Amino acid sequence: MSGLGNDTAGDAVDIVSDGRTDEERVARRDEAVRAAVEQGLLGPDSPIVGLLDVTGIRESAAALRAAFEAVTAPGTPVLHAFAVKATPLVPVLRLLSEAGIGAEVASPGELALARAAGLPPERTVLDSPAKTQAELREALELGIAVNADNPQELARIDALMRSAPSRSPLGLRVNPQMGSGSIEATSTATATSKFGVPLRDEGAREWVVGAYLERPWLTRLHTHTGSQGIPLSLMARGVAETYALAEEINERAGRRQIDTVDIGGGLPVNFSSDVTTPTYAQYARLLSEAVPGLFGGRYGLVTEFGRSLLAKHGTLLARVEYAKSAGGRPVAVTHAGVQVATRTVYAPAAWPLRLAAYDAKGRPKTGGEVVQDVAGPACFAGDLLAEARSLPPLEPGDVVAALDTGAYAFAHHYAYNSLARPGIHGFVPDGTGSVAFATVREAQGLDAIVAESGGAHASALTTLRTPGRP
Ligand SMILES: *Cc1c(COP(=O)(O)O)cnc(C)c1O
Repeated sequence: MSGLGNDTAGDAVDIVSDGRTDEERVARRDEAVRAAVEQGLLGPDSPIVGLLDVTGIRESAAALRAAFEAVTAPGTPVLHAFAVKATPLVPVLRLLSEAGIGAEVASPGELALARAAGLPPERTVLDSPAKTQAELREALELGIAVNADNPQELARIDALMRSAPSRSPLGLRVNPQMGSGSIEATSTATATSKFGVPLRDEGAREWVVGAYLERPWLTRLHTHTGSQGIPLSLMARGVAETYALAEEINERAGRRQIDTVDIGGGLPVNFSSDVTTPTYAQYARLLSEAVPGLFGGRYGLVTEFGRSLLAKHGTLLARVEYAKSAGGRPVAVTHAGVQVATRTVYAPAAWPLRLAAYDAKGRPKTGGEVVQDVAGPACFAGDLLAEARSLPPLEPGDVVAALDTGAYAFAHHYAYNSLARPGIHGFVPDGTGSVAFATVREAQGLDAIVAESGGAHASALTTLRTPGRP
């Protein structure tokens, strides 16, 4: 534990460096928008593109590692496993891996992405509430860490462990049931959440303790109680309750059976300005004060942050195709809508997005703002990126940027209206005042859309006959 003097010094450094880091990120973003237009990544024939700030992603990975290094006893093993669902892109996983970050996967597809990125099994963690028998067998064969969600899954793991030994670290997910945050759909620790073993249900805690005592190979304990909309104090309580349970199990076992606590992810992101808050340093410090025993070196740690590592490093750019007016309100019709900002369009109150206006050359637009709607290309009235938003007047050819969309947004395509997946490019300053881009994912072509829509089976239905009929 660091002393008071160290903490004060740490605070001062954080405030200065975080502010500067945020300003530099905004400057890089403006440069990248201009360069994307100049270099033709965005134009009349490619009217939507996602951009990822490689420098920013590296900085966030480094900030996460430093935050936990500052509060853990020297030599404490800490695995930061990026929640792949937040940004399921192979080059992103490899970038994070190079920055010392592992992968938390929750489906066969996510595991395939992590393996394609070169993540080693010892830096991969499998969580999911619906793992099949085959998924479990593969994970145990590969030696990937698995957190069982429920008693039935644990019974499947029992059978696999009897048939072949595995070096997979194995744990159980518990739900401390501390209640909900401001967004119900992303609150994982409610009384009736579908995740993990509900600790406060009658008999559940005793069952959990017994499950560990019967299985010497069960060495991890997992919880994931945070998410967007959850206050940090509630997250810290979830971690504290999980730690208390680990202590109880080890006490009853008479040995340090649980050697690693997986505290999940879920640090909320500030979507209302360019300021990074809360920071990893703040959260790690809060946790180390709330649950000092967890950081003293007796337990290894696993974290599973997703949104907070990537959200602020993604920018979605869309051209304004038309600018019209309806009922006295200006409406900018753009190419970004429900297909790339699904949560925002369907639940705008919970997931508002900040927008920035750029002109046709990719320069920030200034001047008097007007209240307008920014609409997407999909054919339903609610397909709006923002309703009644004050922005400089948007004209055809202008560029609208949806900010903080690096997680759970443009990498999560929704195929409404058969709209194509946009291309995604990473960027870094090129050292000469401009910007270098690299393709992360190609824009989807029309052939690919036809193929994923049954193109290979065009006459499947017209040639299908009931047996015996002509
Ligand atoms: C979604 C998820 C995460 C990551 O959550 P973020 O809010 O993106 O940080 C981590 N662990 C589990 C088990 C999850 O389901």
